[in-house]
Amino acid sequence: MIKVVKFGGSSLASAEQFHKVKDIILSDPDRRFVVPSAPGKRDSSDTKVTDMLYHCYSIAEENGDFSEALAQIRARYQEIIDGLSLTVSLDGEFETIRENFAAHAGRDYAASRGEYLNGILIANYLGFEFIDSARYIRFLEDGTFDAKTTQDLLSEVLKNLDNAVIPGFYGAYADGRVKTFSRGGSDITGSIVARAVHANLYENWTDVSGFLVADPHIVDNPRVIETITYRELRELSYMGAGVLHEDAIFPVRTAGIPINIKNTNRPEDEGTFIVENTSRKPAFTITGIAGKKGFTAINIEKDMMNSEIGFGRKALQAFEDNGISFEHMPSGIDTLSVFVHQHEFEEKEQAILAEIHKLCNPDYIDIATDLALIAVVGRGMKSNHGTAAKIFRALDNAGVNIRMIDQGSSELNIIIGVASKDFETAVNAIYKAFVQ
Ligand code: ASP
Repeated sequence: MIKVVKFGGSSLASAEQFHKVKDIILSDPDRRFVVPSAPGKRDSSDTKVTDMLYHCYSIAEENGDFSEALAQIRARYQEIIDGLSLTVSLDGEFETIRENFAAHAGRDYAASRGEYLNGILIANYLGFEFIDSARYIRFLEDGTFDAKTTQDLLSEVLKNLDNAVIPGFYGAYADGRVKTFSRGGSDITGSIVARAVHANLYENWTDVSGFLVADPHIVDNPRVIETITYRELRELSYMGAGVLHEDAIFPVRTAGIPINIKNTNRPEDEGTFIVENTSRKPAFTITGIAGKKGFTAINIEKDMMNSEIGFGRKALQAFEDNGISFEHMPSGIDTLSVFVHQHEFEEKEQAILAEIHKLCNPDYIDIATDLALIAVVGRGMKSNHGTAAKIFRALDNAGVNIRMIDQGSSELNIIIGVASKDFETAVNAIYKAFVQ
């Protein structure tokens, strides 16, 4: 069995955290390939090394004196080296980084040093081989990830190694220029490595014990989701439930490798399994609840709309022409509503309204603003009747007015629109109705 283990920034923020990480890795010989992030925050007021690097490089880019900013970054690593009594020295590395910053090697190069240096430290601490991602994770000239070349290069180098540390977040173009993924991209590296070594499991270690059924800022002490499918996860992430980078799903999903979200500070917790498919019944009818505020609904009314061919297309044309994507489009017989992000819509509002008038000649347009959308997601909905009724009853009892309902034909989720001021009450009411 092969496991790839990725550790997030808070799991590697200090010597104490490194210690926990080593215990975790060495307690299971299957944990052969390690993907580290850069050191993250040690407490809530701290700054991530990645952010320190961006800041330091912005000074260098303006030809300012960045020595103090670089010294602070160096101190973060030195604290870890000293705390673990490592014999490794980063003197040469920091000298190279200083020269490259002065020569304006690029923002991506700068940010990538967080993972690079942390990789050197953890490889030294574990006695594992260090593999520089710049040599094996490849980007195409247009900046997109080159999955094919990467798979070939990475599987070739890793196949002969029992253990290795492969830093997260970055790779390089064919000419060697470093390029990073978007923020939080070490999750993606973990997934790519898992695919390259045909891992049986991709463990993603973080500071929470998995995905929660609802946002802990809204619901008090919500339950952990034991198993979630990739499709459910996509629905929930889209609605704002974050823990894992969205792009991290694709490489492992297509290779049939499950992901296990685990907590470095509570390794005994099972965490959440993310799988392609499962016969395991979810603990409750719903798997999770997520939502966002800040939507506007444009309700377009026209008598006999139902028989006017092309009405929907023309209405959406007005949004498309102004570069606005829509989120949902529930419709009635003579009405059609288009849900958009409030802040995007506000700027283009009058242009869009004018165009709807011109293209559709509606009887009436009404705008409802300050709306929140809540997604209630669960593969269990298909086989359980009365889910919608249960949600509506819960919202009714909580005094929440439902402004919109949209059920995807996959029966995987029900989207409910409520006023933003009712958002928290609604999420709590739905949670209580399903989760005991
Ligand atoms: N260190 C990078 C960031 O802060 C990447 C990562 O942690 O995944 O975004």
